[in-house]
Amino acid sequence: MATILKRGKDVEAIAEIDAQVRSTVETALNDIARRGDDAVRDLSRKFDKWERDDFRLSQAEIDEAVGQLRPRDIADIQFAQAQVRNFAEIQMSALQPVERETLPGIILGHKNIPVSSVGCYVPGGKYPLLASAHMSVVTAKVAGVKRIITCAPPFAGKPAPAIIAAQHLAGADEIYVLGGIQAVGAMALGTATIAPVDMLVGPGNAYVAEAKRQLYGRVGIDLFAGPTETMVIADETVDGELCAVDLLGQAEHGPNSPAVLLTTSERLARETIREVERLLAIMPTGEIAGLAWRDYGQVIVADDHDEMLKIANQIASEHVQVMTDRDDWYLEHMVNYGALFLGARTNVSYGDKVIGTNHTLPTRRAARYTGGLWVGKFLKTCTYQKVVTDEASAMIGEYCSRLCALEGFAGHGEQANIRVRRYGGRNVEP
Ligand code: NAD
Repeated sequence: MATILKRGKDVEAIAEIDAQVRSTVETALNDIARRGDDAVRDLSRKFDKWERDDFRLSQAEIDEAVGQLRPRDIADIQFAQAQVRNFAEIQMSALQPVERETLPGIILGHKNIPVSSVGCYVPGGKYPLLASAHMSVVTAKVAGVKRIITCAPPFAGKPAPAIIAAQHLAGADEIYVLGGIQAVGAMALGTATIAPVDMLVGPGNAYVAEAKRQLYGRVGIDLFAGPTETMVIADETVDGELCAVDLLGQAEHGPNSPAVLLTTSERLARETIREVERLLAIMPTGEIAGLAWRDYGQVIVADDHDEMLKIANQIASEHVQVMTDRDDWYLEHMVNYGALFLGARTNVSYGDKVIGTNHTLPTRRAARYTGGLWVGKFLKTCTYQKVVTDEASAMIGEYCSRLCALEGFAGHGEQANIRVRRYGGRNVEP
């Protein structure tokens, strides 16, 4: 049985934090629904100390922000966006419409129709997370979404030029400087100055993720993509320094970002714990990563690979980095994860920033029922049907009529009966 060398926060403490976030979000969303722009302005002032009459950036402001970046930075952003676009286009090419004759004279099909308008949230509280603009906006463009609007909070008191450049280069139609609940609330509910969207996408902190969850139904959402989580699955093929770097590389996202080492080697586990402490003392973001490690870090030593697989599928982490002598075995058998990073040569940061897979991924065990953001999330798969011969209409109508009678649906049954009479020239035998 697995031994736990380091444990994270207990479940009750986490539930208490969840309840506080839920109630803050509910109050703020009700306020936005009631008072629109005035509420958005008040919340922005309260949570971000940020205020202006119109939160939308003008073209001149966008150009000025882009102009602040070095040509090298622009080229790097464009390279990352090209990778995301390329993979999204490859995925899009696998999403063909379907039309088949399933019975003589009966044709069934589906079409993939892009959502008309989406609101993309780009996080920016602790870091200007410009990569989220590539992930949401570029992918929505590939899907064919017509209106793409984006919100990011001010960073350190003012709009972050790198985020604005990424939003603009990705092709956003409207760029707003708004963060947190007020951003997603305004995009979903609409205000006098922001026309509402049909769907919200993008990651964010616990407030953003909870606001999206509460708005679901009113609008569509991509998935529950809250505070980052990472898991490293490793055996003796790698060393503690590499494992520690990969754990802290994600723990630095925020104080509530779980980082879990799952290993078959107690020696590696102890070495990783020592390396984590050493690195925390020297890394510039050590303070945030240290809080995450203290409260949400876990080190688990399993008996064998089968047990590691079982635990990994139970935890269903957002990111899973696998560095073992059987990485492809994990690819074959892992079923609950947001994204897999196979082998020591790659890592979560490649996926987060540039390699081309989408970094908006499920958290809080949502990986049990969804993958991450991808071009298919922006498409509605809508079916249609045609019955092209009289015989087919009468034949299917007889089945339908009897099945309606079993359910007691007289009106449904008559929709079938009239067709059996008209196109088949007969009555349905009860
Ligand atoms: P953020 O933009 O998500 O949130 C900042 C906003 O939160 C602020 O603008 C403020 O309005 C609001 N806020 C802060 N404290 C508040 C409070 N007490 N009450 C109400 N609102 C409050 O930026 P962030 O905070 O840096 O978080 C980014 C998050 O995104 C991190 O948790 C990171 O792990 C996560 N992330 C997740 C994924 C994923 O795919 N799951 C990907 C990237 C990033």
